[in-house]
Amino acid sequence: MDTFSIGIDLGGTRIKSGLLKNNILVEKKIIDAESDKGLQSNLHKLEMAIEDLLKKYEVRNGMLNGIALAFPGIVNPVSKKIISTNKKYDDGPQLNLEEWVSQRWNTAFYIENDARMAAVGEWVFGAGRGSNDIVAVTIGTGIGSSAIIEGRLLRGKHFQAGCLGGHFTVQYNGNECTCGNIGCVEAQASTWNISKMIKADPDFLKSSLANETNLDFHAVFKASQKKDVLATRIKYECLNIWSSGVINLIHAYDPEVVVLGGGILNSKEEIIPYIQQRVDQYAWCPWGKVQIKASELMEDAAILGVAYCLLHSL
Ligand SMILES: [Zn+2]
Repeated sequence: MDTFSIGIDLGGTRIKSGLLKNNILVEKKIIDAESDKGLQSNLHKLEMAIEDLLKKYEVRNGMLNGIALAFPGIVNPVSKKIISTNKKYDDGPQLNLEEWVSQRWNTAFYIENDARMAAVGEWVFGAGRGSNDIVAVTIGTGIGSSAIIEGRLLRGKHFQAGCLGGHFTVQYNGNECTCGNIGCVEAQASTWNISKMIKADPDFLKSSLANETNLDFHAVFKASQKKDVLATRIKYECLNIWSSGVINLIHAYDPEVVVLGGGILNSKEEIIPYIQQRVDQYAWCPWGKVQIKASELMEDAAILGVAYCLLHSL
């Protein structure tokens, strides 16, 4: 008999649900999310997406191994509770998601941090295959990270070890971060603050970026290719901040491979060699060279990782 499971990646702006048949991802459904309005208000849409997938593949009672959720916050996978959030799905800690899954689908439930699950996905199926010492970094709305050390997925006593690479301080007197700290990697260079940074720049009105409606990294990289001075300055500023963040993670977790993912990797031809060169130049690694790789699974990484963890204890 075929067996099925559902892996869900709860992103800040999109929720991706994947159906796995005999452990292979066969179909995904992507719905728009309003993470600032909380998780409860998005659950109905998510339920419909799951129901559609189950119906289409005629998954009946007893054929579903479980539903697994990759969540953008600090999660306790043992109690299956969300511990803490940061401006996304802030009602998460009050919800009993295990009960929600059990009542509707009478199946097993698993939940873990999204970046941690992306790391597992890349380790088992993607760019991290063949190494047991990996750091994964996802640069999107925010910046997530996770570490696998000597084949063990790092969680820590309070389940936050490895996950907070986006909140490593790179500038002690920098921008205020949503987490309460100052000068975090993601407060200095992530999608949620890039447009504010560009608009605050004294050169903004002289730049072609002033004509862009969507001031994101795509716009910055595109304008930089056309030799826009402000876009080029901001691009290198962000590349250097990400490089510093990656070097901090290398110094903290001693990986052989760093896998970079997230929407920003659309410009991977520029980003990967640049960060590799900074790491080669500045990271303290007497044993050899840490490889900087682009994600192979991209937006499937967390879905595949969390579906894997539903069935395997790591
Ligand atoms: Zn922070």
